[in-house]
Amino acid sequence: MTEFTRPAAHTPPRRGLMFVLSSPSGAGKTTLSRRLLKNDPAITLSVSATTRPPRKGETEGDDYYFVSPERFAEMVAGDELLEWATVFGNRYGTPRAPVEVALHAGRDVLFDIDWQGTQQLQQTDAASDLVRVFILPPDLKELERRLTTRATDPADVIASRMARARDEISHWGEYDYILINDDADACLVEIRAILHAERLRRKRQLGLAAFVRTMLGD
Ligand code: 5GP
Repeated sequence: MTEFTRPAAHTPPRRGLMFVLSSPSGAGKTTLSRRLLKNDPAITLSVSATTRPPRKGETEGDDYYFVSPERFAEMVAGDELLEWATVFGNRYGTPRAPVEVALHAGRDVLFDIDWQGTQQLQQTDAASDLVRVFILPPDLKELERRLTTRATDPADVIASRMARARDEISHWGEYDYILINDDADACLVEIRAILHAERLRRKRQLGLAAFVRTMLGD
């Protein structure tokens, strides 16, 4: 048992939450998401659909569903996406069905999406299930260094990511929690603390009223 897990017997059923992690590219969000998912079976990743080609090491269904522009347009027209946006000239979107199934089953869903998608989720009926976390890099120089050492993208893509980073950061005020990723371990502890506290909110503890009624013998 870790500091943030408890035996199921003491955990009344609860409604799943939508946990959004946004950041400019290179702020360490993907690594943090992977580490969070690995250690916490109660949260699953929302795998987005995208029209961008796979990068080296990315796999279909784990990192993204890689689809054609035509298929993406079909998903938009068929209302199959909870939100979608154009980023760096490619389209990205969140398939609706898996999210609804998970939330209904009381599982949390992690979203690695940008500010445009976060705004759209905020406008849906599910807004009260939303927890929005923004990860800042320690500074822009460090961000550029990380983007350059990653070296999976050509120089012009890195330059446009830097320009876009400023734009992404300008939306920090639309998030519930702001973290500075100057130390990945510390940042992960903070993410887990936020998730843990949000899970304990009264509105998410569906079984609480019955639990207290039984306790009081009402
Ligand atoms: P990348 O191409 O580096 O994987 O992602 C580029 C940006 O698109 C990142 O900021 C990422 O968070 C965002 N993104 C990925 N999937 C989605 C999605 O389904 N919806 C939205 N709105 N943004 C996404």
